[in-house]
Amino acid sequence: MALLKRLVHLGSRHHGLSARRCCVTKAAVAGFGFDFTEEQKEYQNLSRKFAREEIIPQAGDLDRSGEYPWDLLKKTWNLGLINTHIPEEYGGLGLGTFDGCMITEELAYGCSGVQTAIEANTLGQMPVILAGNDAQKKKYLGRMMEELLMCAYCVTEPNTGSDVAGVKTRAEKKGDEYILNGQKMWITNGGHANWYFVLARTSSDPKASAGKAFTGFIVERETPGVILGKKEWNMGQRCSDTRGITFEDVRVPKENLLGSEGVGFKVAMGAFDKTRPPVSAAGAVGLAQRALDEATKYALERKTFGKVIAEHQAISFMLAEMAIGIETSRLAYQRAAWEVDQGRRNTYYASIAKALSADVANKAATDAVQIFGGNGFNSEYPVEKLMRDAKIYQIYEGTAQIQRVIIAREHLASAQQQR
Ligand SMILES: Cc1cc2nc3c(=O)[nH]c(=O)nc-3n(C[C@H](O)[C@H](O)[C@H](O)COP(=O)(O)OP(=O)(O)OC[C@H]3O[C@@H](n4cnc5c(N)ncnc54)[C@H](O)[C@@H]3O)c2cc1C
Repeated sequence: MALLKRLVHLGSRHHGLSARRCCVTKAAVAGFGFDFTEEQKEYQNLSRKFAREEIIPQAGDLDRSGEYPWDLLKKTWNLGLINTHIPEEYGGLGLGTFDGCMITEELAYGCSGVQTAIEANTLGQMPVILAGNDAQKKKYLGRMMEELLMCAYCVTEPNTGSDVAGVKTRAEKKGDEYILNGQKMWITNGGHANWYFVLARTSSDPKASAGKAFTGFIVERETPGVILGKKEWNMGQRCSDTRGITFEDVRVPKENLLGSEGVGFKVAMGAFDKTRPPVSAAGAVGLAQRALDEATKYALERKTFGKVIAEHQAISFMLAEMAIGIETSRLAYQRAAWEVDQGRRNTYYASIAKALSADVANKAATDAVQIFGGNGFNSEYPVEKLMRDAKIYQIYEGTAQIQRVIIAREHLASAQQQR
């Protein structure tokens, strides 16, 4: 009943969400099945409608200007389509990863740059959800339900990305505070975040293992010494804000330490089990689906040699390959999301979903450009943007190679256990 009351409250604030929809939060399928609940269908329809009616018309301009999509973000906040995973006790809907993925796929269909800005909140918040205490959650998650605020996840540095254990940002304890010094790079939402999750080295022992050397902190954007770099002009997803951030003698109260000293690496990496299915995998599937839909529509209109190009087998087989990739990568993210919603460790499935869907999105977008011929290479048509936008899915949240490192490690560990 408490949940219902909370959702009625949310339903009245988020005009797009009925209280009834809010009642079902997880894909609670008994046995094997593919049917969505009525509530899930409503989420899907709401986010699909929003993507098609609101995001798509603005996507081209946002790509050209690189402007941060505040207007669209405000609308997603009003509809309740952002921060969906914040637990009910902190004012959120408490949706599961499965439901979050479904929404993300639809939003990415509209523009994956907008989707990345939205999902960077999920990534920034996840360490707090996983390791924060009640006071931290109330303060930092609660505030995101009171008004539209963005946050960010700061792990990568100019000299280290894949090798997270190489993080050099340091946090030194002085009395009741930690003094943070270092530089982060490629931080999504960096310029617009209200607060940051920051991974820093707290151990002075150079031989300390990654599992003991690092600590996670929440750092308020307005703290003196937080210095923002310029907005980076990237290949794609250009309305998403990516920057370097320098921390110069930034004083962080000890209350903002997440978990305990030394557990930061585990917290930062653990977040990916929950975020890879939505941020990367479902997002990539949304982009791939858009590529297929655009290419199909074009192939049914464009004529060569007296027939529409869809009737050339070479073209129809390209469409078929796209469909195969999309259907299988969608199943892969659904499995990864479902596993973690059941409370099971999903590292293996999350990396499979991430690796597969990123590759599928890149191939689908490239093939869509091919199907459009010369028009595909031109920015008046939608598919060249898709091709540029797709590339990042093979890089952020762990590169395509790192996903394979993880999958191989998980696979071999399980094989050894069975011997
Ligand atoms: C647009 C954008 C947004 C981003 N957002 C964020 C964010 O919000 N927060 C954040 O912390 N980071 C963010 N990142 C950083 C991103 O996660 C890293 O760029 C990524 O993890 C790769 O790290 P790197 O760039 O240092 O490449 P490197 O680690 O230097 O890798 C270079 C190449 O070597 C390969 N490689 C590295 N190690 C291995 C290995 N062991 N085996 C095989 N191949 C290997 C990689 O796959 C890659 O091809 C973002 C990056 C971009 C471009």
